[in-house]
Amino acid sequence: MDAYGQFYARVLNPAWETGLRRRPTLRHLRYLEETQWRSLDELAAIQAGELRRLLRHAFANVPHYRALFEKAGLRPDDIRGAEDLARLPILERDRARDTVDERTATAGAAVEIRKSTSGTMGRPLVFGYERSSEFWRQACKLRGYGWAGYHPGARSLHYWGGGPPSVGNEAPSFAKRLRTFKVRADRAVRREHYVDCGRRGAAELDAVVAIIEREQPEVIVCYSQAGADLARHVLERGARTWGTIPVLCGAERLLPADREPMERAFGPAVFETYGCREVMLISTECDAHDGQHVSMETLVVEVVVREGAQGEKTRPARPGELGEVVVTDLTNLAMPFIRYANGDLAVAGKPGTCACGRALPRLASVEGRVTETLVDGSGARVNGLVFNVVIAHLAHAIHQFQVVQRKDRSVTLRIVPTATFDASIEGVLRATWQKYLAGIPVTLELVDELPISKSGKRQVVVVERD
Ligand SMILES: [Zn+2]
Repeated sequence: MDAYGQFYARVLNPAWETGLRRRPTLRHLRYLEETQWRSLDELAAIQAGELRRLLRHAFANVPHYRALFEKAGLRPDDIRGAEDLARLPILERDRARDTVDERTATAGAAVEIRKSTSGTMGRPLVFGYERSSEFWRQACKLRGYGWAGYHPGARSLHYWGGGPPSVGNEAPSFAKRLRTFKVRADRAVRREHYVDCGRRGAAELDAVVAIIEREQPEVIVCYSQAGADLARHVLERGARTWGTIPVLCGAERLLPADREPMERAFGPAVFETYGCREVMLISTECDAHDGQHVSMETLVVEVVVREGAQGEKTRPARPGELGEVVVTDLTNLAMPFIRYANGDLAVAGKPGTCACGRALPRLASVEGRVTETLVDGSGARVNGLVFNVVIAHLAHAIHQFQVVQRKDRSVTLRIVPTATFDASIEGVLRATWQKYLAGIPVTLELVDELPISKSGKRQVVVVERD
């Protein structure tokens, strides 16, 4: 940390956050930095205490959950810890959309921050939480990012989605200009440099390289696929002039084939993170680089496998097994998410303490969205991740890929090949789609680059629906 970084971290930021704004974020951060070294038993006890607080509140003040408890014949104290949570049903995404009023607390906590998920997967989900939950979210983020060397006041490059462009060309209002100024000033004091990753042509990527050379960031925070594109560009141009810069990847999946170019372009400190808008950061990779630790003090994260013809039975995924992410937010009392299936799939991690010394449980990897389901010629559902699994073994020949299934069920497989892509690789891909997508016409397209959505994300599996 340089002199400004130390001044910011020790003086400016505490004075602002704790003194002027009276925000408890840094106090929460100190707590989380201490609890992360506790034993699993101690962490489970902390989690159970927070869970009981949430469930008692939900039973007393949240109509949706009161009804669920009564239907199940349960009282809040019947659930003593995370291991008993499975006695309550899973909250599906659609159900979460339809129960906004019933899940809003009538007392005990009030919604102060409202957000919604982007509607790319269908109707957006509206949700809310109280300000005290926001402070915990920020503290969790600071702890997780801290594992990669990020700290407030560090010179950081944020290669991130810029959101939709503004429409029209009328002059912004005074209030809007003031807001923009405040955001810019705040970022300058924090030394955060933001670059929109939405367009990633050669000229834009060259500009990012120039910014890295000029600003010398101590850490890069990026959309995973944007960071991978940047890394490949750096390697193609032979543009690396820097030592190791830790890279924090988020918002998108980091594919196995992305890690190697990122390590060559920025050094071995590549950290994947995983979160969702509803609860923010869920897990972060530590410097042992062996899975992502979940934030057990503020969340209960389950990886759940459905069984039975209708998927009516559930059980916890075994280590190494793929399942659905089911999350309970222990800090949101205003509009609780209890056993919420957020639509993502993850592989349950190894049990036991990590090489880094933390006992916080791990996800082995986060694989993508449940809704990325393809259909074969008979209409049977096919896991959209079938190509991920095969292509993970073809990383030497395939930079990137995207699977698109049209409304008429035809599939386009787009591949950004490397120089070693040849007919034998094409044969492996062909065998894969003949096996899994029987009866579906599949077109292979070799392309130079893949399209990016307006939000700056690149979807690996796209299913076009009516
Ligand atoms: Zn670890």
